[in-house]
Amino acid sequence: MSHRQPICLTSGPRRSWRRWAALWLALFTSACGGSSTTPTRPTVAVSIFPVFDVVRRIAGDRFEVLCVLPPGRTEHSYEPTPRELAALAETDLAFAVGLELDGWLTRVVRSAAGDDVRTVELGPSIEPRRFTPAELGIIGESHDEHGHDGHHHGAIDPHFWMDPLRMERAIDPIVEALVALDPEDAAGLRARGEAEKASLRELHAAIEGASQRWRRRDVVTFHGSFGYFADRYRLRVVAVVEPLPGREPTPRYVEEVVRALRAAESAALFYEPQLDPRPARIVAREAGRTIHELDPLGGTEGRDSYEALLLHDVAVLDEALR
Ligand SMILES: [Zn+2]
Repeated sequence: MSHRQPICLTSGPRRSWRRWAALWLALFTSACGGSSTTPTRPTVAVSIFPVFDVVRRIAGDRFEVLCVLPPGRTEHSYEPTPRELAALAETDLAFAVGLELDGWLTRVVRSAAGDDVRTVELGPSIEPRRFTPAELGIIGESHDEHGHDGHHHGAIDPHFWMDPLRMERAIDPIVEALVALDPEDAAGLRARGEAEKASLRELHAAIEGASQRWRRRDVVTFHGSFGYFADRYRLRVVAVVEPLPGREPTPRYVEEVVRALRAAESAALFYEPQLDPRPARIVAREAGRTIHELDPLGGTEGRDSYEALLLHDVAVLDEALR
């Protein structure tokens, strides 16, 4: 896959400009015997693009909002470069999905900005669903040899952002955490939170309308990232190609997926831009199907807002399921 330019860490130059301005102001005010408080905005770091996009709109211009995971990378692991780490040096607050998805976030922001950075996990407040057996790599009687050690611990599905109505439930916790950091703008933050909720409900209505056109309902997704979306819009995930995202499935498991695809005659097959598509290509070739790209994360051109990302996926589904 091509590596697109990240559009999510955009505040580097502005930040260094602000640093200089703050330093200059500090020197100036101390020379004049004034207060040494600097006018920097609080910095908020968000683990993945879809949540980042919603947070930045609620935050408005009162916060510096940074997206931690660079676009194009899988949400299931992240090791920052020294430069990416340095960009997070002033983080005051972090937003994570939680539910064991992005445990890397707390580690990363704390090593960048110190141990007192608080992480707010949004997942627990959105009524999480459980993975289905198929999403865990259990097809019929057999399962992937690795399938059971990936998503364990009760198999809670963390990919809640793929359902706009679950995302709506995350708005209040986001707003309240931002209000705690900037109480002066409480009214503005709450108003922007309500506006975001309205936008998410509108998005849901648009997807609901589009989903009426889909004559086929069975899908084989690349990993277990579309369960919330499938539940909401009445799709059925009959299998996933890679139960452990980033770990190549065994040949025996690939055969199971091919068999599941043949059994579900109308099922559509997908890969994802963040993960190596080769296992999906093998399945497509053996089952004689075309593959389509579904994107759970976006942050790239044409998918540069949460709404744009979901509508992009809807357009793909229109093509794949008609
Ligand atoms: Zn995932």
